[in-house]
Amino acid sequence: DEKSVTLIAVAGDDLGYTKTLRTSWGDGPLAQGPTGISLKTGTTQVRNNLADDPRFAPWLKQASKRGIQCSIALPVLVHGEIHGALMVYSHEAGSFDARGQELLEALAADLGYGLTRWRDAEALTTSRAALEHEVAFDSLTGLAKQRLSLERIQDVLDTRDAPGWALLCVGVDGMTSINQAFTYAAGDAVLQEVAQRLVEAAGAHDRVGRIAGDEFVVILRDLITTTDAAEASQRIINAVHGAVEYDGVSLDVSASVGSAMWDGKDAESLLRDATAAMRIASKQGTARWAFLDENVAATSRLALEVQTRLRGALATGNIVAWFMPVVQLEDSKACGYEALVRWVLDDGTVMPPDTFLHVAERSGLIIDIDRTVLAQACDALLRIDPEQHIAVNVSARQLADGLFATDALRIQQQHNMPAAELKLELTESTLIQSPVQAQAQLAQLTDVGNSIALDDYGTGFSTLENLQNYRFHTIKLDQRFIREMLNSSLSFQIVMSSVGLIHSLHMDVVAEGIESEDLARVLAELGCEYGQGYLFGRPKPLAALLQLQGMSSAGR
Ligand code: C2E
Ligand code: MG
Ligand code: MG
Repeated sequence: DEKSVTLIAVAGDDLGYTKTLRTSWGDGPLAQGPTGISLKTGTTQVRNNLADDPRFAPWLKQASKRGIQCSIALPVLVHGEIHGALMVYSHEAGSFDARGQELLEALAADLGYGLTRWRDAEALTTSRAALEHEVAFDSLTGLAKQRLSLERIQDVLDTRDAPGWALLCVGVDGMTSINQAFTYAAGDAVLQEVAQRLVEAAGAHDRVGRIAGDEFVVILRDLITTTDAAEASQRIINAVHGAVEYDGVSLDVSASVGSAMWDGKDAESLLRDATAAMRIASKQGTARWAFLDENVAATSRLALEVQTRLRGALATGNIVAWFMPVVQLEDSKACGYEALVRWVLDDGTVMPPDTFLHVAERSGLIIDIDRTVLAQACDALLRIDPEQHIAVNVSARQLADGLFATDALRIQQQHNMPAAELKLELTESTLIQSPVQAQAQLAQLTDVGNSIALDDYGTGFSTLENLQNYRFHTIKLDQRFIREMLNSSLSFQIVMSSVGLIHSLHMDVVAEGIESEDLARVLAELGCEYGQGYLFGRPKPLAALLQLQGMSSAGR
């Protein structure tokens, strides 16, 4: 607006003249110098004697002081338009003859050509970047569009060869009616807000994409099972759910989610499955989630419900340990107890472990369950009889958790448990899942005096290697063999030789599942010293056990 002139570059010794220069290409006296005229008219302005030019008066003093006698101003054109001027000054009057002028005009033209090419290249880069951005990203939400989303999914596929992640397709519920009832601008506001909520829930911008008008995709990692994916879907639904204010109106927004677990498929099939699952979900109503396979969905729905309720039960103290006696077979006297977990529902129904342990194991809740059981077992033993031992079951998940031993020791200390009275029961399948971890963790516990029992012996791998690698104190023969041994001579032989083998390794034997006197007698005759089974006592809550003890001591 001011039509001022900015000095871009100076070369040679100007003795500070250019610093004093104030020029314009507008009207006024400052526009009457060679530079101003050249910029305005696009013509070369030669002044072979500056002192002779009355229009040069504003600058003459500064120029004379530095001995500047003459000048030439040459317009510089970029794309045919005047963009600047090249000024050359000289101490010698009459420096710029026709030959010199021609030469300098060629120089100014070259300069203009260079600038033109440079500007073109710059514009091209910017427009190419803008174009690429426009192709890859959605302008409304700033999220990756479908193609880039697919590339990102493919990237995950390329870097990962194991399962453990899922793709969620998120569809905004009732988008058409929002657009119809309000305006497209309202719809846009909803989509922008949903995008933001999704990015927050996913924890990273590059895990979310907008693949169609009202459809988004979320890439989630560290999901091991379909139940995890179901939980994640619910989390996304909760995150999206809520009002969006637009123009004074509060719009109720929700989304439906379809998920597809990675199972070796390519990116496109995975996205197709997730999208199809989302359509199934949105057909069922609003804020629902689904899998493509209804069986998978039903199973996960159930597991998720169990998981949620189980978490609640842990918090409310409805996960309790029941106790089952372990007896000496020669006199049927209890010498210890096994703690067995029970889930007591609000209506008093008692759920056995096989109804919920698989869910607990998969969701990791088993770690908290086992901590609870251990704490209760420690407390119980002190009340039943601190001279006896108590056994707790250890899960694979617990053992794989690096904190297991530390945790178990802390709980024992907090509950004043004599270390020598605690027995940890493990199955071979538990051990095999993380053998190195298991050995280290168990050694830490046996060092302080805990003992280790191998549970359900005979059903798993029953490798002799395991008998050698772990310092088992006790081997528990699985009830399957025990039950059959009176009817099957093969089972009888297996039990007999197992007892022999275990004894020769200086370990104790516990026979599980003894339901009859006959069986107890035969086992005692085989030299099996300990037994456990309904014959001697079923698992009972602590209160019932204490009551029973009270009765028997009163009887005595
Ligand atoms: P387990 O450790 O082998 O426990 C023995 C199971 O056999 C118990 O079932 C017990 O009630 C049952 N049992 C014992 N004697 C007899 C008998 O004479 N007849 C019959 N029919 N059954 C008998 P429960 O309590 O249902 O536990 C099942 C399994 O669940 C346990 O097998 C153990 O692997 C797991 N479990 C139980 N409590 C816990 C726990 O607190 N933590 C972990 N991680 N696992 C547990
Ligand atoms: Mg056990
Ligand atoms: Mg067992």
